[in-house]
Amino acid sequence: FDASQYAAELQSHWASQGGGASYALLTRAFVLANATTSRIKIVDTLVNFLRVLIEGDPSSILPAVWLATNSISPPYDELELGLGGSSISKALKKIYGLDNQSLKSLYDKHGDAGDVAFEAKKRQSFTLVKPKPLKIKGVYQALMKIATSKGTGSQETKQRIVEKLLQDTRGAEESRYIVRTLVQNLRIGAVKTTMLIALARAFIYSKPVGAEFQVRPQNELARLKKDELAEIYNNAEEIVKASYARHPNYNDLIPCLLEIGPAEELLVRCGLALHIPLRPMLGSITRDLSDMLTKLQGRSFSCEYKYDGQRAQVHCDEQGKVSIFSRHLELMTEKYPDLVSLVPQIRGEGVSSFILEGEVVAVDRETGDLQPFQTLTNRAKKNVEIGAIKVNVCLFAFDLMYLNGEPLLDRPFRERRELLHSLFVEIPKHFTWVKSMDATSADSETVLEFFKGATDVKCEGIMVKVLDNTAADAQQNNTKTTSEEADPEDAIQEPPEPKNGSKSKEKSTRRKALLSTYEPDKRLESWLKVKKDYSTSSDTLDLIPVAGWHGSGRKAKWWSPILLAVRNPETGTLEAVTKCISGFTDKFYQSNKDKYVQGSTNVISRPSYVEYYGEPDVWFEPQEVWEMAFADITLSPTYPAAIGLVSDERGLSLRFPRFLKVREDKSIDEATTSDYLALLWRKQMERAGVENSGVGKD
Ligand code: ATP
Repeated sequence: FDASQYAAELQSHWASQGGGASYALLTRAFVLANATTSRIKIVDTLVNFLRVLIEGDPSSILPAVWLATNSISPPYDELELGLGGSSISKALKKIYGLDNQSLKSLYDKHGDAGDVAFEAKKRQSFTLVKPKPLKIKGVYQALMKIATSKGTGSQETKQRIVEKLLQDTRGAEESRYIVRTLVQNLRIGAVKTTMLIALARAFIYSKPVGAEFQVRPQNELARLKKDELAEIYNNAEEIVKASYARHPNYNDLIPCLLEIGPAEELLVRCGLALHIPLRPMLGSITRDLSDMLTKLQGRSFSCEYKYDGQRAQVHCDEQGKVSIFSRHLELMTEKYPDLVSLVPQIRGEGVSSFILEGEVVAVDRETGDLQPFQTLTNRAKKNVEIGAIKVNVCLFAFDLMYLNGEPLLDRPFRERRELLHSLFVEIPKHFTWVKSMDATSADSETVLEFFKGATDVKCEGIMVKVLDNTAADAQQNNTKTTSEEADPEDAIQEPPEPKNGSKSKEKSTRRKALLSTYEPDKRLESWLKVKKDYSTSSDTLDLIPVAGWHGSGRKAKWWSPILLAVRNPETGTLEAVTKCISGFTDKFYQSNKDKYVQGSTNVISRPSYVEYYGEPDVWFEPQEVWEMAFADITLSPTYPAAIGLVSDERGLSLRFPRFLKVREDKSIDEATTSDYLALLWRKQMERAGVENSGVGKD
């Protein structure tokens, strides 16, 4: 792989276009990114691609970034393409002259709709009129048109746009990526963090004509030592990532970058803002209470009930306009009109604008008793009328991130909590504080009592949060070169290079820092989760169904067994962990079979990103998370899950796996990781009194 050769290739391609950047340019980047699993190569590809646009056609960067991240707008914008599989099939048949039978056999062979389009385009007979090349901007505009077409005739309009896009593709690869974009499954590794890193690096080297910020010539950077280069990269990446964590919208980020580059000022120009959800701070898992107490030794912390509901970020501006966002940044103001109507009452004197965070939990309106999460899922998502509400809720607030025009993220948690409690007004059974208790590691008995109290009222366990910064922590927090923690539960990964640079050293020091500041989008050790599941043998796992076999006997018409996998965030792959035949109802089996029907986009050819040694009859497009119970975890020569974490030769598997439920609230990025599986295995070995249970222990 030669990045500079690729850049030169792109430049010459660009020159031949004589105008706006062509979709072929983006396709080329997709093809290169798809050809590798190396995160660093994907970053390099994107950096080179972005640099060509920055210098040649800056107005195509924004649409290109949306297309490369497989979205068209931020999650809270509620724009969806809303195209069914049948619409794509219809267009494929019409434009590439396929009949039902040949389309079906292409699907049977390739599974992925994009791969079908690739083959169909290749076979297409010669067309006399050569279409005008698709432009990046044109493709993005077409998608926006699809997403915004509403009302009568909109289906036909959408269909026409899809057909026109397919018709205008110039090569089979373009067809592949247009269709993958339309079915919203691009399958290149340009996940959020990869794109942010690529953007930061591209703007170190390149700026648009006329922009005033400083860039570093490539030959100058090439002469630097690895550590020095790592520091330059790291500074820019931290700023871009921090800006996106506070203000996750490329529509605002890209114009700012084009104007000022990855400068500190980005955090002011494109930072925390009302009615734009910030990405939430996340909690790290612990094995049990004693693990938590060891981790927080010497520190004061707050133990809080961990309620089983839905996380909510409530924004209110000076005019009293309220927006409520979910954990995944979706707008849910319409779902909770009852909470919106509470805002004037909870807003104490002197509070003009704010962003606060809490857990919405279903409650019994009479007694105030907490109801299970399941009850909350019965509430409609849209057009909820206050008078018709059957599922009553209470908001248990736990943080305050913004007050009267000022971000509070850099304040210690103790101070933010104090402001929350003193400036807002409780309304029993409607709006209150999470139940909490302050403690230190010396208070193990009271902490245990508190934990029991939480589980007695059906909470999931407790959240434990560091209250104050020590001087050392504060200093580390100010060192902008420190990186975010490696996030064990997000499917993203820092590029591995440069090796032995300052960054890796910074990381290991930072890992010990326990910040009481609010760190958007980070999973630090200053927020710990202790769940009751971890402390008993009733652990459950959130696994991804990835494949199936034809059933036999009574189950002949369904998929059974079903193969399930954990995520490996380090490699971005899914690792098979077990087959399951238990816990499914006949009705469930049937709906599973209807969903993963051969010929549909839900059934794919063997995916390179799923690790499994065997040959299932059918591969599922990974898209669901299932909660699974099991008896215990075993070392296995057959399954690759967590291989290398507890043994170099063997992976981990489950004994007596049993399906519990579909986790509708979780995306596959939130499924159990191989790290966590390994952690449970070690815990199980410890329980069984086995010393020296495996390698890799901290
Ligand atoms: P995560 O959100 O950490 O990725 P997850 O969705 O599985 O993982 P959990 O691991 O169960 O959630 O724990 C974190 C969630 O717990 C928060 O996102 C929030 O919705 C919920 N929660 C309940 N009570 C609290 C509390 N007191 N403080 C913070 N979060 C709480």
